[in-house]
Amino acid sequence: MNNPSRPGAGPDTAAIPLRVGGHPQPAAPRTRQLEDRFGRRFSYLRLSITDVCNFRCEYCLPNGYQGTPKGFLEIDEIRRLVAAFAELGTWKVRLTGGEPMVRKDFMQVARAVKQTPGVKRMAVTTNAYRLADCAEDLKAAGMDAVNISLDALDAERFQAITGDRRFDRVIAGIDAALAAGMDAVKINTVLLKGLNDDQLPAFFEFVRERPISLRFIELMRTGDNGDYFATRHLGGDRVRDRLDRLGWTPRDRGPADGPAVEYTHPEHAGRIGLIAPYAPGFCDTCNRLRVTARGGLRLCLFGNGSDDLRPLLAADEQKEELKDRIVAALFGKRVSHFLHEGDYGDTPHLASTGG
Ligand code: SF4
Repeated sequence: MNNPSRPGAGPDTAAIPLRVGGHPQPAAPRTRQLEDRFGRRFSYLRLSITDVCNFRCEYCLPNGYQGTPKGFLEIDEIRRLVAAFAELGTWKVRLTGGEPMVRKDFMQVARAVKQTPGVKRMAVTTNAYRLADCAEDLKAAGMDAVNISLDALDAERFQAITGDRRFDRVIAGIDAALAAGMDAVKINTVLLKGLNDDQLPAFFEFVRERPISLRFIELMRTGDNGDYFATRHLGGDRVRDRLDRLGWTPRDRGPADGPAVEYTHPEHAGRIGLIAPYAPGFCDTCNRLRVTARGGLRLCLFGNGSDDLRPLLAADEQKEELKDRIVAALFGKRVSHFLHEGDYGDTPHLASTGG
């Protein structure tokens, strides 16, 4: 039964008072489980550690990074933030950006996150510009899973979409992550009408021998990409129909899996996935919260505004207050996005919130 005085907090909210020698003792913090008014539980934190990116993807930062590359959360702030979330039942943390690996202290950040009690799984979403050089270090830092953005399977088209020439480095990064023994290697491919929808057969072939999951992501409308969205958006049906025709079968989602519906095929080592935010019921199983690179708690990718947690990241002693703030904020989470109503929140582009 939910605690009516603390909406959004799970059943095990209250700490048990302890007495030693008649004196009340501080109760050991118990793990609460973040849960919203709709009964959704949040075990997955997407933590942006910078909004800087070194690529110029057409659907996100067509003119490159325009912000002020400073003022991002420091390691101690990140450690305190993740510790609080972990005590609220979050056990999976994804490091995102911008491009998270542009941070010079990325490996230290990764180690600090994975060493946090309660964090069982750590992942990163990267454009893989330096993955081939550091996949082993990443694994040694405790990274379990790597998601790599790859929107085309030839260098020319890749450069046309990303504004970058490092296609071969990205492919080498994928294979390096596999060779390093990452628990999961996934590809994020934004489905773009007239730009990569003709490459579906090549993408399917890409996972024939590679034990990876390649997921097609429907282009999402954000504040800055209106015209682009109108030109390039392509529903996931095109992919789903082709998968069905070719004998791919859908597989069940795991507890902290992201929103992808994945398909397997007996002749392919890898899987194909589909992330379709416009599909009915997409938000029913939302299990993730986001924190921006400057400490703003965002309840939804397409929400409005964020709750500034940074003032509560200054000292370890603020942890209970920080947890209370996160629990209270969750009460404001909406039942879903309202993209169909043309409400895409105040997200100017995905680099600003880490996607
Ligand atoms: S759009 Fe918002 S509510 Fe829906 S799944 Fe994503 S974060 Fe959750």
